[in-house]
Amino acid sequence: MRLKLVPLGTSAGRPTLLRGASALAVVTDGAWVLCDCGEGAQVAALRAGLSLSRLDAVLVTHLHGDHFNGLPGLLGSLGLEGRQRPLVVCGPQGIGSLLQHLADAGSLGTGDMEVRILEQHGTGGEVRIEGSQFLVESRPLVHRVPTYGYRVALPDRAGTLDVEKADAAGVPRGPLLAELKAGKAVTLPDGRVVPPDGLVGPRQRGATMAYTLDTVPCPAAAELGRGVDALVHEATYEDARAALAHERGHSTALEAARIAAEAEAATLVLTHFSPSVSGDALAEEARTVHPRIVAAQDLAAIEI
Ligand SMILES: [Zn+2]
Repeated sequence: MRLKLVPLGTSAGRPTLLRGASALAVVTDGAWVLCDCGEGAQVAALRAGLSLSRLDAVLVTHLHGDHFNGLPGLLGSLGLEGRQRPLVVCGPQGIGSLLQHLADAGSLGTGDMEVRILEQHGTGGEVRIEGSQFLVESRPLVHRVPTYGYRVALPDRAGTLDVEKADAAGVPRGPLLAELKAGKAVTLPDGRVVPPDGLVGPRQRGATMAYTLDTVPCPAAAELGRGVDALVHEATYEDARAALAHERGHSTALEAARIAAEAEAATLVLTHFSPSVSGDALAEEARTVHPRIVAAQDLAAIEI
């Protein structure tokens, strides 16, 4: 199964006419998780054709407004839609009390919907989203406030079954075939045991991505991005302003490319562009280090 990344906001700090504040949808088969929820994220999600009712979780990296301010509005819309199933909201320590303050002031309007807060502590770890096929884990990044990056994966799938060969081996259609496809040896009615070897291809790895913003270049970003199909890393400035980037807790495109190369990420998606930079120019810088660079654009989907 594949993942589709839909950038819903690719600007740093404040939105521009072409770029909204940080948000990115990770989609499979209509179901999705939202990484960050900057102002305007829900309108962008509607424009992208995403169904709010299929949203499984919101993964907030940190509580700076350009990553968080869209969340109260999104929760209110889900409440108005009458959503019954819980929504997981994952984020750094403090996100629960912040949302509680807003709820107490009557700002959220979540109705009957349970908002299941999963605050991340220390070194992070597995983020359990009940009833979802997305496998999520977190790790702390290095920014000016507590910040967590995320890795999102789909489960590995059974290999392809060669039905003709299975027929030839005498395996009847039905449950035995399903067991064989799951990689198990099966016992036929006549007592013969048929192993899956040669009949079922190798297991297929589920698609993976990592989302690492905001952060200075750090080992945790490379760990989250280890071997992923796509690493989405912040690239706030060009290399000439590396000192400014670090002072503000950010990375340059070149640094993001070094992280992606170290992690052996297949594709690097640059995002979180300062309004003062050109995404294409940053991508050019990054290409000197990593061959597959995409400068994210709002609503331009990336299939992985
Ligand atoms: Zn930011």
